[in-house]
Amino acid sequence: MNRKYRKPFIAGNWKMNMKPSQVKAYMDELKTLVPRAKWCEVAICAPFTDLPALVKAVREPHFAAGAQNMSKFLSGAYTGEVSGDMLTDLGVKYVIIGHSERRQYFGETDELVNEKVLAALNLGLHPIVCIGESLEQREKGLTAELVTYQLKAAISGVPAERLRRVTIAYEPIWAIGTGRTATAEQAGEVCSLIRAVIRSMYGARIARGVVIQYGGSMNDANAAELLAQPDIDGGLIGGASLEPEKFAAIISAANQE
Ligand code: PEP
Repeated sequence: MNRKYRKPFIAGNWKMNMKPSQVKAYMDELKTLVPRAKWCEVAICAPFTDLPALVKAVREPHFAAGAQNMSKFLSGAYTGEVSGDMLTDLGVKYVIIGHSERRQYFGETDELVNEKVLAALNLGLHPIVCIGESLEQREKGLTAELVTYQLKAAISGVPAERLRRVTIAYEPIWAIGTGRTATAEQAGEVCSLIRAVIRSMYGARIARGVVIQYGGSMNDANAAELLAQPDIDGGLIGGASLEPEKFAAIISAANQE
């Protein structure tokens, strides 16, 4: 983390867990555990059905609601889709785009990810853009190439003044939900590469303002070490975000003056 230029940002990704009726109790507990998340930004990215309850429950500075996906379309005959416009209308601030589970199970391509990022930015949303390599790609030594490609594709056409609203989440697929975390050095190295690519595209001033998260089995035990890396500014947390105590401990690791 480099607090001079960036505010730490911890986001939970509930995936397809938690019902609307469970949201308030979760948030009440989290707020009791973290009464003053003053030095970091916290978001929960919840299923669409939870969002009205979540928006109501997070009404506090430093806490925000996020979605896990959105349509690239604004409105129209797209049965089953939810537009970014609907999210902003609800008061949702963040939206995860291009999570590896969406790429893997729902066929999302780099091109679609880019279209969604541009659509989200047009609507004033703050996209959390996920990129990361598979185990096979890492073992073949393709991590840097793949991550660079995914990053450039995802933010293609994003003007510099909008990039501040974009968070990049580096999520090695082999570490997601597996309990197998990247070492702090492995994660830090790729996050530094991501910043270097942004620097080459937008210049040093813009690049140092972009928040880069690590995601992949981040938990209360390893958060502090990961966050100590200079280019890791926060985390995207799946499993551990479902338990307020564990999530609160991760927030506390980032919430230092
Ligand atoms: C995620 O879903 O983005 C994630 C990182 O999951 P987990 O923390 O469970 O590995």
